Amino acid sequence: QADERESMFLVSEFARDYFQRILLEDNEGKAIGLSYFKERGFTDETIKKFQLGYALNDWDAFSSEALNKGYNLKYLESTGLTIVKQDLLAPNGTKQFDRFKGRVLFPIHSMSGRVLGFGGRILTNDKKAAKYLNSPDSDIYHKGNILYGIYYAKQTIAKEDNCYLVEGYTDVISFHQKGVENVVASSGTALTENQIRLINRLTKNITILFDGDAAGIRASIRGIDLILEQGMNVRVLSFPDGDDPDSFAKKVSEQELKEYLENNSQDFINFKVSLLMKDAQNDPVKKAGLIRDIVVSISKIPDRIQREVYIQECSRIMDISESVLFSELAQLDKKEK
Ligand code: ATP
Ligand code: MN
Ligand code: MN
Ligand code: MN
Repeated sequence: QADERESMFLVSEFARDYFQRILLEDNEGKAIGLSYFKERGFTDETIKKFQLGYALNDWDAFSSEALNKGYNLKYLESTGLTIVKQDLLAPNGTKQFDRFKGRVLFPIHSMSGRVLGFGGRILTNDKKAAKYLNSPDSDIYHKGNILYGIYYAKQTIAKEDNCYLVEGYTDVISFHQKGVENVVASSGTALTENQIRLINRLTKNITILFDGDAAGIRASIRGIDLILEQGMNVRVLSFPDGDDPDSFAKKVSEQELKEYLENNSQDFINFKVSLLMKDAQNDPVKKAGLIRDIVVSISKIPDRIQREVYIQECSRIMDISESVLFSELAQLDKKEK
């Protein structure tokens, strides 16, 4: 079992090296993949640091190379890098295809820097194809258990005692390039308990940075309660409409980015109130719903004192008595049991 996993790591790391070589040295890789990254403003240093790669637009270029080099088809298949299909005309009845074709690749690393899998982005604006294609879950890659960028961020997260949580690969990379290194991405999956636990080992403070679109806001609201449940502190920061952390970082200097991050984050409670108040306005029924919603979040906080502080805060901004909030909270606690 341990041997099998080690074999899968070795295949993945061979793939990482191969795709990186294609990006930097192959004609198609340079003309299509490298120029794509350059157009997005990534420097040579960044491209090397994150071990970015390119998969040729070919049915089996990678798989053939790996098999020629003696890698076992079993592990090529179990890592999802190669897809094996029946083909009655082939000598042994099957034929293999590359999972990633004509995509730029982002290796996904474990906390200790082993390669677990890849995310691959298409380069066209073809709306029919999925923009990102990821390695499938496997014995070494469980997408809900890993955060993109954690290997590169862990030291700075501990040092700064804060972790920025973003949505995408390019958000992580652009932040690094602008000198902000305590950043990880959930990479398109809804944030999970295990992902939060990874951060919890390094800091108690998370700042969620979401894309300035409706999907981004919904995702961060879901994340808040999960983070509170683990006794962690959560702040929220949004970007101007239409921007995500990557596009915003590109427009500003390092100094401006750091100032923006420092000056614009909101405590989760203020965030929820200002967001939901837009809806509720003077509608008492909606306002009641909103208050309940916020008390539900507060009920997730394990620490009694911290809860009390939030109840006071909530009472102040929502203009509602603390006793009402406390009795609502007590009811929720009863339901939990
Ligand atoms: P880019 O800037 O390259 O367009 P992005 O990171 O801003 O990419 P978003 O659309 O904001 O892309 O999505 C955030 C993240 O969600 C992506 O980085 C990726 O990990 C994941 N994702 C997006 N689209 C898909 C998809 N079709 N399939 C799987 N994962 C996806
Ligand atoms: Mn988005
Ligand atoms: Mn985005
Ligand atoms: Mn983006």
